[in-house]
Amino acid sequence: MNAADPNEILDDEAALQLDANGNLRHLLTLKGLDKALLTDILDDAEGYLTAPGALPARSQSLAGRTVGNLFFEPSTRTRASFDLAGKRLGADVLNLDVNTSSRKKGESILDTIYTLQAMHVDVMVVRDASDGVPAYIARHVQPHVSILNAGESDVSHPTQGLLDVLTIRQHKGAFEDLNIAIVGDIRHSRVAMSATHALTTLGVGDLRLISPPILAPDADKVPGARIVDNLAEGIANADVVMALRIQRERIGNLDGIPGIDEYFANYGVSHDSMKLARPDAIIMHPGPMNRGIEIEGSLADGPQSVITQQVTNGVAVRMAVLDRVGKTMAAR
Ligand code: ASP
Repeated sequence: MNAADPNEILDDEAALQLDANGNLRHLLTLKGLDKALLTDILDDAEGYLTAPGALPARSQSLAGRTVGNLFFEPSTRTRASFDLAGKRLGADVLNLDVNTSSRKKGESILDTIYTLQAMHVDVMVVRDASDGVPAYIARHVQPHVSILNAGESDVSHPTQGLLDVLTIRQHKGAFEDLNIAIVGDIRHSRVAMSATHALTTLGVGDLRLISPPILAPDADKVPGARIVDNLAEGIANADVVMALRIQRERIGNLDGIPGIDEYFANYGVSHDSMKLARPDAIIMHPGPMNRGIEIEGSLADGPQSVITQQVTNGVAVRMAVLDRVGKTMAAR
């Protein structure tokens, strides 16, 4: 399933996710989605946010539909928020227990998908450790079925990218004048990839991707961003600082990866390093956090942190995406 030319495959994916009328049918990647569509999804998501303490927004727009969560990698936030998002739109939600599913008995992913399709699962939310799985499935399902990428290897995590840019927009408004610093294991981070796709389309001012050289991305995967290996340079005057976890599960050989103390001293988002950012900078993290490694714990809980707001926005963004693919289905 691995692509001979990753860019060619990504372009193909970008085309695959829209129907003939330009409506969202699958969400596989943010790459190739235009600014108007991204902005519409963010606007829809805003409509699902309610005041703290108020009941969450609900509708029946997916009543009668079934959403299946198929997470073949661990997840807390993404899985829980797709579950809640589906239920709050009135859908039946099936959370497949992958540890006891027949994939463990050697069933192919497509046979699992065809089985769920035969049970009228209309939307399949898929997380997998291999490249290309969401698009591969999207090419094989019946025309009325939607596939949503909930985290694909180190390639992309589009709903995370959407919730990140929504959070940035809420605090900072227009993207054009912003300095955004993403710090951590950029090379293996699907979060960094999707944030880069969305931010460059939305016209970000200066996007810096900061990591030790061994964890830097290939430049051709992040056009429009600056690759920086010095935290002080990358975080200077930042309006937004996003810390990322080292993706140990994706790094075959950990030789050369700095130890915890060295890493925190050189790349940790800390009270010290934040002195170089703008005083009103916001601090983000997609979770799960490793406090004391990529982020100082008290900073994650402090006034500049918008980490729990990212989580709240995650439910709203997933409702917006589910509602949109549901409308595309209904219009068929
Ligand atoms: N939860 C995010 C992801 O699934 C970030 C992480 O795991 O570090 O990619």
